[in-house]
Amino acid sequence: MEIIEKAPAKINLGLDILHKRDDNYHEVKMIMASVDLADKVSLTELPTSEIKVETDCSFLPLDEKNHVYQAARLVKETYNIEMGVHIRIDKRIPVAAGMAGGSSDAAATLRGLNKLWDLQLSQETLAELGAKIGSDVPYCVAGGTKLATGRGEILCDLSDVPPCWVVIVKPPISVSTWTIFTELDIAKLGHPDIKLLRSSIENNDYQEMIKHMGNSLEKATSEKYPIVAQIKNRMLDYGADAAVMSGSGPTVVALCDKHSRAQRVYNGVKGFCDEVYLVRTLKS
Ligand code: ATP
Repeated sequence: MEIIEKAPAKINLGLDILHKRDDNYHEVKMIMASVDLADKVSLTELPTSEIKVETDCSFLPLDEKNHVYQAARLVKETYNIEMGVHIRIDKRIPVAAGMAGGSSDAAATLRGLNKLWDLQLSQETLAELGAKIGSDVPYCVAGGTKLATGRGEILCDLSDVPPCWVVIVKPPISVSTWTIFTELDIAKLGHPDIKLLRSSIENNDYQEMIKHMGNSLEKATSEKYPIVAQIKNRMLDYGADAAVMSGSGPTVVALCDKHSRAQRVYNGVKGFCDEVYLVRTLKS
C-alpha cells in the first residue's frame, strides 16, 4: 500500500517577535496561511526496520538530518513499530525559504504513518509529536489559517483568509533562520499589529487585512540581503495590494484581490527572479 500526502507551504501574513525566552526560543505571534504550492510525500512500508528517504531534490539530506526521517524515527520509537518505511519527497516548495517546506514534509510524514500503520492518533497527538521535530511542524499537521503563539506551537484556528491571489518570489539566496535569530537585536524590531490583522481576517475584510500585514524580521533580513527589499518594491510597483517577507525570508509574498493584477505582478518579477509562483491560499 502506498500513502500519498500533500505537504503545502505556508506564508506568514503577520509575524511578531515578542522577546527571547529563558530556553533560548523566541516568543512569537504569527498568522500563517497554507498556500497551494506543495510537496508530495509518498510512503510505503518496508519489511525491514529501515527508514529510507528518496527525493528529486539533489541537495537535501537523506539521513537523520531530513525532517521526514526524524518524523518517521519518532513515530517508530514512540509506538514500537518494527516495520520500516520508504519515503519519497517530490519537492516543489523552495528550500530554506521561510515557507516551512521541511516542517510540512515532516507533518505529512506523521499524517501518512498514522494511516500506514493504523495508529489512530488524534490531530492533537500528531501536533505534540511534531513539536519535538520543529516549532512549525504542529501548525503544518492541519495547516489552514491560524494564529500561532509560544514558539509557534500554540495554535488557534482563524477564519480562512479573504479570497485573494498570492505571488510568491524566492530570490536566489538561502537564508539561515538560525543566523537571523542569533543576530537579532530585539530592541530594534518593528511590531506589526497582529490583533488588528487577526480581526480583519475574522471579519473577512481584505482591505483592512492588507493594511496590517507585516513581519518583525523583514528589516533585519533586508539589511543583510538587499534583494528582499528590491523584490518587495518591484512587486508593489507592479500593482500588488501588499507585500511582505515570509518567515525569516528570503521569500517575499504579494497579495492581490484581482487575478489580472496578480498576473501583472507575476510577469513583472518573473524576469528578475527564476522562482516565482502564482497561487491561491488553501481553505481549511
Ligand atoms: P521555516 O519556514 O520552518 O523556517 P524554511 O522554509 O526556512 O523553514 P526548509 O525548507 O524547511 O526551511 O529547510 C531548512 C533546512 O532544513 C534546509 O537547510 C534543509 O537542508 C533542511 N531540511 C531537512 N529536511 C528537509 C526537507 N524535507 N525539506 C526541506 N528542507 C529540509
